[in-house]
Amino acid sequence: MHLKAVKLRGFKSFVDPVEVRLEPGVAVVVGPNGSGKSNISDSILWATGSLSPHELRAEKPDDVLFAGSAGRKPVDFCEVELVFDNDDGTWAELPFAEVSLTRRLHRGGEGQYLVNRAAVRRIDLVELLSDVGLGGGLRSIISQGSVETVLSAKPSERRTLVEEAAGLGRFKLRRHRAELKLARVATQVERARDLEAEVRKRLRPLALQASAAERAEKLGEEVKRLQASIASLDLASLSERRAGAERRRARSTACAPRPSASASAARPRKRSSPSSKPGPQRPRPGGARTRTSSSS
Ligand code: ATP
Repeated sequence: MHLKAVKLRGFKSFVDPVEVRLEPGVAVVVGPNGSGKSNISDSILWATGSLSPHELRAEKPDDVLFAGSAGRKPVDFCEVELVFDNDDGTWAELPFAEVSLTRRLHRGGEGQYLVNRAAVRRIDLVELLSDVGLGGGLRSIISQGSVETVLSAKPSERRTLVEEAAGLGRFKLRRHRAELKLARVATQVERARDLEAEVRKRLRPLALQASAAERAEKLGEEVKRLQASIASLDLASLSERRAGAERRRARSTACAPRPSASASAARPRKRSSPSSKPGPQRPRPGGARTRTSSSS
C-alpha cells in the first residue's frame, strides 16, 4: 500500500486544483523557499484529521483556506484528497483497488470527512488511518522544525516515534481497545456477581413463600372438595325428607273421607218431628276417621 496522490484545492497556497502524484519508493518535492513544499505535508496532516492549527503552522482552523493574494480573492472552500493504493488489500474491509480519503472545509463551517466520496465521522477516518500506521498524531510525518524535537526527545519518546512510524501504532491501538473492552467486561462481571448475591439473598424467603402458596392451593382444593361432599349429603337428606313428606301426603289423601251417596243421605234434612232427632252416629266399618291434622 502506498500514497499514490495528494489532490489539493484551495488549501493554503494551492488555490487552483493541483494533483501531486507519488510513485512507490522515495519521492522528493523540490522547490525554492516559500514555494509551498511544506504546505504539501501540511495538507497530508490536515487531511488525516489534524485538529491542531499549530501542527499545521496556522493560528486558527480557517487559516488553511487560501487567504488571497494580489491578483486572487480568498476562497471560502478547500479540499484535500489522499489517494491510497489498496491493491494488496491492506484495508481488507474496503474492497477497492484505490481508497480515497478526503477532508473539506467551508469558511466558518465544521468540515467534512469522506472515504471514497462517502461522508464519514472524523473518528472513522482516523481509525482507518491508524490501521495503516497513520493514526492520531501522525508521528510518521516529521514536519519542519520537528527534527530538533525528535533529536532532543527522551529515548522512550523516540521509541514511540519509531514504533508508530513502523506501523506498530495500530497494534498498540488494538491492544488498548482490547484492554478497554476487557475492563468493561470485568465491570459487567462484577455487577452480575453483585446481582447474583442479591438474588441469592432473596431466594430463601421466596422459596418459603412458594411452598406456602402451594400448600394454600392444596388446602383450597380440599376445602372445595369437602364443601361439595357436604352439599351432596344435604341434597340427599333433603331428597329423603321430601320423599317422606310426599309419601305421608299420599297416605293422608288416600284416607280422607269422600263425599258419597249414603253420606249425603245421612245429611240432616229439615227436621219433621222431634222423634227424627239424629242420635249419635256409630262409626261405620271402613268409614272415614275424623282426623284433622294433616301433618306428619
Ligand atoms: P521553505 O523551503 O522555506 O520551508 P516551503 O517551500 O516549505 O518553504 P511553505 O512554507 O510550504 O514553503 O509555504 C509558504 C508559502 O505558503 C508562503 O508564501 C505563504 O504565503 C503561503 N501560504 C501559507 N498559508 C497560506 C494561505 N492560507 N493562503 C495563501 N497562501 C498561504
